Amino acid sequence: MRSILDDIFPCFVAGKAVASSTTFDVTNPYNNEVIAQVAQVTPAETEQAIQAALEGGEPLSRYRRYEILNAARDLLLERSDAFARLICAESGICLQETRYEVGRASDVFQFAAMEALKDDGQIFSCDVSPTGKARKIFTLREPVKLISAITPFNHPLNQVVHKLAPAIAAGAPVLLKPSEKTPLTAIRCAELLYEAGLPGWMLSVLLGPLDEVAKTMVTDPRVELVTFTGSVNIGKQIAHEAGYKKVVLELGGNSPLIILDDADMDLAVHLAAEGCFRNSGQRCTAVKRLLVHENILAEFTQRFVERAAEYVVGDPAEEQTRVGTVIDEAAAMRLESVVNDAVAAGAKVLLGGERRGAQLSPTVIADVPRDAEMVVCESFGPLAPIMSVRDIDDAIELANATDFGLSSGVVTDSLDHALRAVKGIRTGTVNINEVPGYRIECSPFGGVKDSGLGIKEGVIEAMKCMSNVKTFSLPF
Ligand code: NAD
Repeated sequence: MRSILDDIFPCFVAGKAVASSTTFDVTNPYNNEVIAQVAQVTPAETEQAIQAALEGGEPLSRYRRYEILNAARDLLLERSDAFARLICAESGICLQETRYEVGRASDVFQFAAMEALKDDGQIFSCDVSPTGKARKIFTLREPVKLISAITPFNHPLNQVVHKLAPAIAAGAPVLLKPSEKTPLTAIRCAELLYEAGLPGWMLSVLLGPLDEVAKTMVTDPRVELVTFTGSVNIGKQIAHEAGYKKVVLELGGNSPLIILDDADMDLAVHLAAEGCFRNSGQRCTAVKRLLVHENILAEFTQRFVERAAEYVVGDPAEEQTRVGTVIDEAAAMRLESVVNDAVAAGAKVLLGGERRGAQLSPTVIADVPRDAEMVVCESFGPLAPIMSVRDIDDAIELANATDFGLSSGVVTDSLDHALRAVKGIRTGTVNINEVPGYRIECSPFGGVKDSGLGIKEGVIEAMKCMSNVKTFSLPF
C-alpha cells in the first residue's frame, strides 16, 4: 500500500480514479495535522457513476463473487497493519481498536464469500389446498439494480465493508459515500476490491458537497435501495427525501447495561468498562447508561472507577493506548458540556472529565439524574453515567425510557431475570452477561424506535435487502 501522504486520494467512478482539482483536507484528530487531500466528484461524474452501474456488465456468477470476496479478504489480511494505521490516523481511534476492526472486516468478507455460494430459493407445491393445481411455485433472488450506501465515521472500514461485501455477494452495484471525516480507509478499501477482481461498474466511491452527491444518491429514482448508517436526524431526513424506494436505516443508540444484585461483580465491572470506553465510546452499541441495582451500587462504583483508571489515554498510534480521541474537538467539547450540565443538576464526576483537544479521558459520573441530556440523548464518547435502580422492573422501565432502541446488556445470574429482560426491553438486541455490542458479523443486527425501522443488517439480512425475491411457477 502507498504511503498516506503520497498523493491526493481520488474518488472512483465505475472503477476509474477521478482526481479533480477541488479537494478537501482530512486531518488527524490527535495532532490536527492534515494527512491527505481527497478529490471531489462533479455532478456530471455522479451521473456517469449511476449510468455505468445501470448499464452494468457481465453478471458475476456466484463462484466469481465468492472468489472476489475471498481475494479481498486475503488482501486485507496482508495489509492489515497499513489499514489499522490509516483508520487510526484519520479517526483518532487507537491502534488496539483499529486492529480489531480490520479483523472484523475480514470476517465480513469471509462470511459474504460463503453466503455468495448459497441459494435460499424455495419450492411450493400448489396441490396443497382443495383448489390447488398440479403446479410448483419457485423463488429466486435478483439483485437490486442500484444501491446508494452512506456510512458514518466511527468504524471507517467495517461500516463500509458491511455495505459493500453483502452487495457483492448479492451481485448488486453500489454507489458508496463514506464519511468526509474518514474517507481515506474507504478509498483504499475500494482500490483493494478492484484489485481483488471487482468490475468497475459494480462500485463507485463518491465524495463532494452533500447537496450534490448525497442528495442525488438519496433522491434519484433510479436508485432502488438507500442503505444508511449514521445519526438519527440525518437518517430521518433521508427517510423523508428518499421517496418510493427501499430504505435501510441503522441509526444511533443509547444502550443500557443493567447490573442486577445477583450479578457476578468481576464480570459486571469488566463489561461496563469495555462497553463504555472501547472505540473511545464511539460505537452505536457502546454502553451509554449503567443501570445498577441499589444494593450493589457502592461496591460496583468503587470497583468500576478503579478499572476505568486502567484505560490508558494517549496518542492513538501508540501500542499501549486504549482510548484515543473522539472524532474532533467539537465533539469532545459537546461531551464536556453534557458532563458539566449533569454536574450542575447534581451528578458527581468520580474519574476523568479532562479534555485535551479532541481527547476526553474515560469519565465516570455518579448520581446522574434520569432526565440529564447525557442519558436522554446519545453521548458519542467515553462517558460512563451511573444510575441506581430499585429492581428488575425499575431497570427495564428505565432502559426503555429513551427514544432509542438499538441494543442492551444485562448482567445477572438469574435465568428468570434474564428472560424478563429479553421480553421486556425494547431494543433490537438483548445480550445477557455480555456487552450490548456483542455480535458476529453474519448475525442479524439493527434497532427499533429511533435506532432503525426494524430492518436488520449483518451479512445475511443485508443480502436479503439488496435483492428482490421473484417467484415463478411451472406446470408440474
Ligand atoms: P452522521 O449522520 O453525521 O453522518 C453519517 C453519514 O451521512 C456521513 O457519510 C455523512 O456525510 C452523511 N450525511 C450527512 N448529511 C447528509 C444528508 N443530508 N444526506 C445524506 N447523507 C448525509 O453520523 P456520524 O456522525 O458520521 O456517525 C455517528 C452516528 O452513527 C451515531 O449516531 C451512531 O450511533 C450512528 N451509528 C449507527 C450504527 C448502527 O448500526 N445503528 C453504526 C454506527 C454508527
